[in-house]
Amino acid sequence: MVDVVPINVRRRMMSGIRSTNTIPERIVRSGLHRRGYRFRLHVVDMPGRPDIVLPKHAVAILVHGCFWHGHRCPLFRLPATRVRFWRNKIETNCRNDIRNHRRLLQRGWRVLTVWECALKGSGRISPDDLFARIERWMSTSHRSGTIRGYIRTR
Ligand SMILES: [Zn+2]
Repeated sequence: MVDVVPINVRRRMMSGIRSTNTIPERIVRSGLHRRGYRFRLHVVDMPGRPDIVLPKHAVAILVHGCFWHGHRCPLFRLPATRVRFWRNKIETNCRNDIRNHRRLLQRGWRVLTVWECALKGSGRISPDDLFARIERWMSTSHRSGTIRGYIRTR
């Protein structure tokens, strides 16, 4: 399968605008909704404006695009042009992510990061698996957790 970046995504990448309401985000949201969870979106008064917040569970779910957040996975590829610009931009995003993550924990939130590659591409996991993992993590007392694609099975 050829990996084609849709034109609207490319335009957004080139203009440097961070997107909200991405497809991975919508998948997580609708699955949670179907399972009866109530949540708030892009909460402005929380560090980093978490994508999905479940106040009743004190859980923030961050749905990270692998490109914007510099994930070390096969979905991440630095553009061939303006390499320094993109590298700086993504390094800044990563620093902000680390800081926001720490601040959320300090304020008593549990933080689950769901990477785009868990939902998209050849390494993705099934939606049933994804929500089983989310609920399994929520049932633990872990302060933070990560769900990603390309999971090694052994
Ligand atoms: Zn990834």
